[in-house]
Parts: sequence; C-alpha cells; structure tokens
Amino acid sequence: MELSLAGQVALVTGASSGLGAHFARTLADAGADVVVAARRRDRLDELCAEIADDGGTAAAVALDVTDPASVVAGFDAATEAFGVPTVVINNAGVTTTGAAIDLDDADWARVVDTNLTGCFTVAREAARRMRAAQSGGSIVNIASILGFRVAGALAHYAAAKAGLVQLTKSLALEWARYGIRVNALAPGYILTDINRDFFATDAGAAIVKRIPQRRLGEVEELDAPLLLLASSASSYMTGSVITVDGGHLVSSL
Ligand code: NAD
Repeated sequence: MELSLAGQVALVTGASSGLGAHFARTLADAGADVVVAARRRDRLDELCAEIADDGGTAAAVALDVTDPASVVAGFDAATEAFGVPTVVINNAGVTTTGAAIDLDDADWARVVDTNLTGCFTVAREAARRMRAAQSGGSIVNIASILGFRVAGALAHYAAAKAGLVQLTKSLALEWARYGIRVNALAPGYILTDINRDFFATDAGAAIVKRIPQRRLGEVEELDAPLLLLASSASSYMTGSVITVDGGHLVSSL
C-alpha cells in the first residue's frame, strides 16, 4: 500500500482556511509539491511559509473557482511552479443559511456556482491538462453528508453537494480511460474555526447529540481517507464516496 505522494503535484482549492489549509499541510507531509489556491493569494503566504518550515514544498496561486478564466490562469501558474497537477482537491465551498421560501437568487447562485459548478470547472481543467500530459491523476471532491440527507435552511447547499456526488460518479465513468480517478470525501460535522463558536451553543450541542458517536470530527480524522483517495493506495477506486461522519448518516430516524 502506497500512501506517499512523493513526486506528485497536488492542488487544493479554497486552501486559505479550514479544511483546505489542513489538507494542504497533510498532502505536503505526504511528500507532494503542494499548490495552495484561493481567491486572494496574499492570504496564502503564511501557509506556504508554515509548510516550508515543516520541510515541505508549497506555492500559492490566485484562483476563483467561479471564474473559468481564473481557473485556467491558476493551473498555468501551478504548472509553472511545479508541473502539471496530478492530485486535485476540490475543496472550495460556501454556504448561507435561510429558509428555501425566502432564499434569494443571489444566495442560490453563489452556493451552487461555488460548490457544484466551480468543482466542475476545476475538475475539467485538471483533466484536460492530465490528458494532454498523459499523466493520469486523482481528483478528490469534498462533498458533505448533506449530499445524502437534508437539514433545514440549507436547500441550496444540500442540492449542490448532492449534485457533486453525482458529478463525481459521472466524471469517474468518463475519465477512467485517461487514467484519471475521481472520488469524493463526504465529511460530517468537523470542528473548524468557522463553526467552533456555533457548536459551543445549545443549538450546536443539540446537533452533536444526534451524532451516534456523540462528538464532532477533528480535521486530523480526514487525513487517512484523504491520503487514501489522493494516492495510489486507492488505485482501483473511482466513483467512490467515503463518508467520515461519526455515524451521522446512520442516525436513527
Ligand atoms: P471554510 O469556509 O473555512 O473554507 C472554504 C474555503 O473556500 C475558504 O478558504 C474560502 O475562501 C474558499 N472559497 C470560497 N469561495 C471560493 C471561490 N469562489 N474560489 C476559491 N476559493 C473559494 O470552510 P471549511 O469548513 O473548511 O469547508 C471546506 C469544504 O469542506 C467545503 O467544500 C465545505 O462544504 C466542506 N465541508 C465542511 C464541513 C465542516 O464541518 N467543516 C463538513 C462537510 C463538508
């Protein structure tokens, strides 16, 4: 079993915070040259310095997943830095909360454009370059348990993540012929800076009670599944979705 990413170029979208920043460190620790991509390049310099201090290699590129020209430019910059990305983590995501009946067009569009269309734009660009370089590669889409079940006030997010699950399978089918594997990771609730305050409230605690393991996930608990999908350890896996949720999807109805 080979979990090492030595010799691979890994690109992570939305790497400026949360899971994306953590994924970038994990991939660098596994030996990949890591391209950290986010809308504002300046926010990534600290992360690159941290990775370098730990003995890794990282470069920052500007990339807005909702802007196809920016995606092309981001892949150009990544390729210039380290070569064609062979591992791509489609992590950038956003949400708002709001009852579907009051959801405005702008919120719907922002969530679907980022979480679904943005992942397609990035995956397509990655695959075009992998095909041209005949390198093959691994694309990992960061979905969510909301791609399988629903929660109130998140209709746009749940619809986009469910779309991402089906997109993962469709791309896996079409791109196997190029040696490109496409899989997804579907986290449950993982503690990050974004949700730490919410989960300290009574409403947050009530959600935790419904998780069979009665706790939130830690970012480190995504490391092994991420490396499995990114590396050749999963060489016969494509179109798979790995759930990491403390049993939340199998909670009692
Ligand atoms: P986060 O807000 O910290 O990270 C999202 C990142 O995406 C941010 O760095 C943001 O700047 C970036 N981003 C947003 N729009 C972008 C765009 N147009 N172009 C490029 N980058 C953009 O949140 P997170 O919790 O780290 O979420 C990361 C991913 O994991 C998301 O796809 C989210 O849906 C998914 N997820 C998170 C959890 C959780 O519990 N934290 C659970 C399931 C799924």
